[in-house]
Amino acid sequence: MSNSTTNISERKMRFIYTLRSNGVTCPRVLSTMETIDRGEFVHGHFASRAYEDTPLPIACGQTISQPSIVGLMTQALNVGERDTVLEVGTGSGYQTAILSRLARRVYSVDRHRQLVTQSEKIFRKLDLTNIIAFTADGTRGLFEQAPFDRIMITAAAEDTPGPLLEQLKVGGVMVLPVGPADGVQSLIQVSRHESGFNYEELLKVRFVPLMEGLGEDS
Ligand code: SAH
Repeated sequence: MSNSTTNISERKMRFIYTLRSNGVTCPRVLSTMETIDRGEFVHGHFASRAYEDTPLPIACGQTISQPSIVGLMTQALNVGERDTVLEVGTGSGYQTAILSRLARRVYSVDRHRQLVTQSEKIFRKLDLTNIIAFTADGTRGLFEQAPFDRIMITAAAEDTPGPLLEQLKVGGVMVLPVGPADGVQSLIQVSRHESGFNYEELLKVRFVPLMEGLGEDS
């Protein structure tokens, strides 16, 4: 094996080890994250840092989330193989790709057209055919495809957006960061039952803000 190959496989092993030691313990989530190569979703200057447990800059001033946070959010979403999932904030497409391996279908929206177009190219390359990506303002959800078994938001809202709560099925789960745009936010797991919603705070996080309307490029 060449030095660089050894290096990459070692870095990938360490990547999974770091996920485990940060609390990602679900075997289904770990094996999925082993098969989806984060290196496909980080380009240019930061490509060499793809296997570090850190958020990294992507186009349009956005970020690809920290892998251990991606793992913890995916675990908290508890996705079943027959589930239809809505993801708000496609970004690099990394989280979308992981969800697509766990669910029946994933709808993913981003307010930046450029990010949606770039992600779609990677989904085609990786043959992830159960992802439907749109350029849209996700704060309104996707009325025509609703309701959803699972909803994940990967940008921070001041409060849980009402239309997304409405578009969650009874028995469904939503995971999202809630809090101020420029401060520490809480990762929340919302479960919908017959008579209302249960909210559980999971951990403190820092995400880019959920913004209303489309990006200037869209
Ligand atoms: N899961 C992504 C995270 C990207 S950062 C990843 O790991 O790559 C959050 C993303 O949310 C950004 O791409 C941003 O454009 C998007 N976003 C913010 N507000 C939005 C909104 N109202 N509707 C859709 N996408 C939104």
